[in-house]
Amino acid sequence: AQTLKIGMIPADGIGHEVLPAARAVLLALGSSIPKPEFIDLNAGFEYFTRTGTALPEETIRVLTEECNGAMFGAVSSPSRRVAGYSSPIVALRKKLDLYANIRPVASVSGTPGSDVDMVVVRENTECLYIKEETQIMTPNGKEARATRLITERASRRIGKMAFETALSRGKQNPVLTIVHKSNVLSVTDGLFRETVRGVPQLEEVQGRYDGVKIEEQLVDSMVYRMYREPATFDVAVAPNMYGDIISDAAAALVGSLGLVPSVNAGDNFVMGEPVHGSAPDIAGKGIANPIAAIRSASLLLTHLGHLEPAQKINDAVDAVLREGKVLTPDLGGRSRTQEVLDEVLKKM
Ligand code: NAD
Ligand code: MN
Repeated sequence: AQTLKIGMIPADGIGHEVLPAARAVLLALGSSIPKPEFIDLNAGFEYFTRTGTALPEETIRVLTEECNGAMFGAVSSPSRRVAGYSSPIVALRKKLDLYANIRPVASVSGTPGSDVDMVVVRENTECLYIKEETQIMTPNGKEARATRLITERASRRIGKMAFETALSRGKQNPVLTIVHKSNVLSVTDGLFRETVRGVPQLEEVQGRYDGVKIEEQLVDSMVYRMYREPATFDVAVAPNMYGDIISDAAAALVGSLGLVPSVNAGDNFVMGEPVHGSAPDIAGKGIANPIAAIRSASLLLTHLGHLEPAQKINDAVDAVLREGKVLTPDLGGRSRTQEVLDEVLKKM
């Protein structure tokens, strides 16, 4: 392709402050990638309060018909129920069948924080996030229930994605840790665990994953061990909610949510997205850390096959972190979003 068409969905809060940084680094790559063409698209809680819809049909249409990939900022989802509102990021993942959320968490040598280099591969379409909740009144007061969906199909495809991720890192002894709680939830988590374990035996993979060692952790002990021995983990695969939680926990190990990128990936589309939310406590102040969004743009490029330009972005970010002179307040610095971006661009 002559151009790289990228749908840009800043959505809410600091999404508006960090997505322009992702755009700037992609533009700075010059002719090493097809010329980026950005298409601004609407979604989010702010858009919902103005228009009554959180994810317009037009956004879906443009993404599926015109774009090679996308970048998402962050969405605000109120903890109370708001009539007519449901999270557009959950809907986007579902509508575009972005069934994997891939979250690399790696420390930069020579910077504060734990020594960690792991990837969380989070199932992105089911588990408790199908949002089937009911509430009834009983003689003893209100009673609420949620349905948790685990399917063989979704567990198998996320399992495959996790084994592929384990192979792609070029480690000598790749290890895949399956995270679950099947000692308690033996039916649902049991199915997840069994299905992922069975992936290497599938006919179509033909021994491809034989070199990947399989381990398991119950989700609570996973968090404990991540804090005690973070360096021992390589790739972890988890159902949706555990994956959400352990990747935020992993983010704390490297110092800030503002550093951790992700991509939402399916078989036909990929969308970069920082792991953090809309950070209402700092939104509008110009001090959000843009690195998670910048690294997400790099990860997007990797998934679109542009490995060297992606590496160039990562090297520039690592250099800025290693120098430690231009950092936003979440990392103990005093710099602004724009100053960190400028420093990254300088290193590129
Ligand atoms: P959050 O990730 O927005 O913020 C958690 C803490 O980390 C805050 O103190 C925030 O200031 C800080 N932080 C996050 N990103 C940062 C950055 N780039 N630079 C500096 N500091 C950063 O999580 P929250 O406060 O629990 O949720 C806020 C809103 O975001 C909620 O409405 C929630 O629903 C939503 N949320 C959305 C996503 C998403 O879009 N995928 C993910 C998580 C939370
Ligand atoms: Mn989260």
